[in-house]
Amino acid sequence: MLNSLEHIGRRLVDTVLPLRCLSCGVIVEEIGALCPGCWPDLELVSAPCCACCGLPFGHAEGPGALCGGCLAHPPAFDLARSALRYNDMAAKLIIGFKRSDKLHHLAAFTQWLERAGESLIGGADMICPVPFHPTRLWRRRFNQSALLANALAKRTGKPAVPDLLIRRRATPSQGGLNRRQRIENLRGAIAVRAKRSGAVKGSSVLVIDDVMTTGATVDACAKALKRAGAVHVAVTTLARVVRETT
Ligand SMILES: [Zn+2]
Ligand SMILES: [Zn+2]
Repeated sequence: MLNSLEHIGRRLVDTVLPLRCLSCGVIVEEIGALCPGCWPDLELVSAPCCACCGLPFGHAEGPGALCGGCLAHPPAFDLARSALRYNDMAAKLIIGFKRSDKLHHLAAFTQWLERAGESLIGGADMICPVPFHPTRLWRRRFNQSALLANALAKRTGKPAVPDLLIRRRATPSQGGLNRRQRIENLRGAIAVRAKRSGAVKGSSVLVIDDVMTTGATVDACAKALKRAGAVHVAVTTLARVVRETT
C-alpha cells in the first residue's frame, strides 16, 4: 500500500517538475534522457562482439567469432547481450538507481535493454530476473533486476515471471572473487522455483540482470533453467564489465 502511494506521489512529482538529466540534473526534454553533455560519456556496446556472450572486441573478427572466455569455458546460456559498457557513467546511473530508488531511470534503462536484446527478445517465451536472496532484497529495498525484467516485459508484450528463479541460500558478495571462486560461491545457490518448473520445460527464457561481470551469476541461472528443461536461455544485461586486457 505504502509502495503504491509512493508510486502515485512520484508520478505526480514527475508531471509537475521539469524532467532532468539522469546524470547531472540539468533540464532535458524527455523522460529518461541524458543531456548532450553527459550522453557522450555513455558507451553503448556494439559490434564487433563475441557471437555468444556479446563481449565487445577491439577490432573486427570473422562472423561467429568467440571470445577467449567462451572458447575456454562454453557458458550454459546460449546468448548474452549487454547495452552499455560498465564505465564511470554507467556505474553512476546504476548506483543512483539502486540507492535512490529513482524509478524514472527505468524509462532509459528499459529502452537500452530492448535495443541490446533486440535479437533475443522475439524468441523468448518468458522474461525473468536474476534472483536475490530475501535478506539482500530487504537490505536493498528492491530487486532492480526484477524491476528491469518487468519493465522490459511490459514494453515488449512478453510475459514476466519475476519468481521463476530463487536463491536457495544467501551468497557472499561476488566482489573480489575470481572466476573459479565465483562459480564455487554460487554452486547450488540458484534454482527454478518448484511450482514454475512445468512452465520452464521446453521453453525459451530470457534472463535479465543489471551488471554482468564475469557472467558467473547468469551462467548459474542458465544452468538451473537448463536442468529444469529450458531449451534456450538468453541473457540481456544493462551493463557489462569489459576488462581492458580483453
Ligand atoms: Zn547531464
Ligand atoms: Zn564470449
